[in-house]
Amino acid sequence: MSAFLHPFSPPRMTDFITIVGGEGAEIWDEDGNRYIDGMASLWYMNVGHGHPKMIEAITAQAKALASYHTFAPFSNPPAERLADTILELSPFDRGRVFLTSSGSEAVDTAMKIARIAQREAGRPHKTTIVSREHGYHGTNFGGTSAQGIPGNREGFGELVGEVVNVEGPDIEPMARLFAERGDRIAAVLSEPLQGAGGVFPPPEGYLEGLRALCDEHDAYLILDEVITGFGRLGSWFGAQYYDVEPDMMTFAKASSSGYIPLGGVIIGPAVTDALMANEGFSLKHGYTYSGHPIAAAAGNQAIAIQRDDGLLDLVPLIERRLGDGLRALHGDGLVSEVRGAGAVWAVQLPDHRDAMKDRDALLEQGVIVRPLGNALVMCPPLVITETQMDRMVDALATVLSR
Ligand code: PLP
Repeated sequence: MSAFLHPFSPPRMTDFITIVGGEGAEIWDEDGNRYIDGMASLWYMNVGHGHPKMIEAITAQAKALASYHTFAPFSNPPAERLADTILELSPFDRGRVFLTSSGSEAVDTAMKIARIAQREAGRPHKTTIVSREHGYHGTNFGGTSAQGIPGNREGFGELVGEVVNVEGPDIEPMARLFAERGDRIAAVLSEPLQGAGGVFPPPEGYLEGLRALCDEHDAYLILDEVITGFGRLGSWFGAQYYDVEPDMMTFAKASSSGYIPLGGVIIGPAVTDALMANEGFSLKHGYTYSGHPIAAAAGNQAIAIQRDDGLLDLVPLIERRLGDGLRALHGDGLVSEVRGAGAVWAVQLPDHRDAMKDRDALLEQGVIVRPLGNALVMCPPLVITETQMDRMVDALATVLSR
């Protein structure tokens, strides 16, 4: 057995598929089997595999300066440029950008910043973080504590205190919690469209409802944009797609298309003002690799490719081709529900089916989807072709009609 202990896998498992190459929306394994990467790896490979400009940018930065930290008093050009660019793309007219290496680090950073900003704003009693049923916020202790997927919280002992998970999907339970203890709530943490919990778009008016509750009670709204950020819905961020202005947004995944691990938090005006209110304050939070030059160079290049090649404009085409294809499966009675928006979709399987077995059968057809509960999820690279999308839908039809 190999020494590699895989994430989100049974430790006794041995029969992994060894991926050795990729191009565009396709990858291949060590035996030469080719697959359509219907999940953009793990929701992140927007620009497609093997992009020459990504490889060039990463190589050039590695030659210039592979790494130097950014704790005071140091900085580096790609990190500075990336933060400015990300702020420009965000809905905020001013603010700051904190850089991390993952979505989990981004979530924990946003939770900690929410609490410390409340303190700096003169509201030290506001420490409760509220998250939602079905929410997925990574696997560090903060994000684990905020998980709305019960299985992901179990067995890890006592989690972070004052983190409350609220049932959904309508706003009433959230409004009740605010009525009971709004004076203690520092922030609400919510994905714009819930991803890893099973692909649930927000109910009509839900995000606006969260915004209103946060405004009434001096709480911050944190949108976890780790999946939705950088184009998945056809806007740079879910905040713009759903037209709601948060106080902070977390990002990771498509920010670098995963070529180098990258994530962060975009901090809007209210939180920025709180952090800068007191002259003696210093942020005692950060990671060795915050602002890593190669990761930042990968981020700058991934954004440039998405902009120059108009990848966000492809999202409505994906929505039509893939979304309509999946709705046709529903019309044929092969799936019980179709959920999604933009370039992220799920089909709910009829109760008698086994999503794991269907995932495996699809692998044999050369198509990768992700089983979540009894749903199959799709989140392809934005460069996927119409032919590749049609092959995905055809493979689903073949497997689900057996
Ligand atoms: N937040 C959301 C919404 C996610 O979907 C994920 C990962 O899927 C994370 C946080 C955690 O990101 P990472 O796995 O990069 O730590």
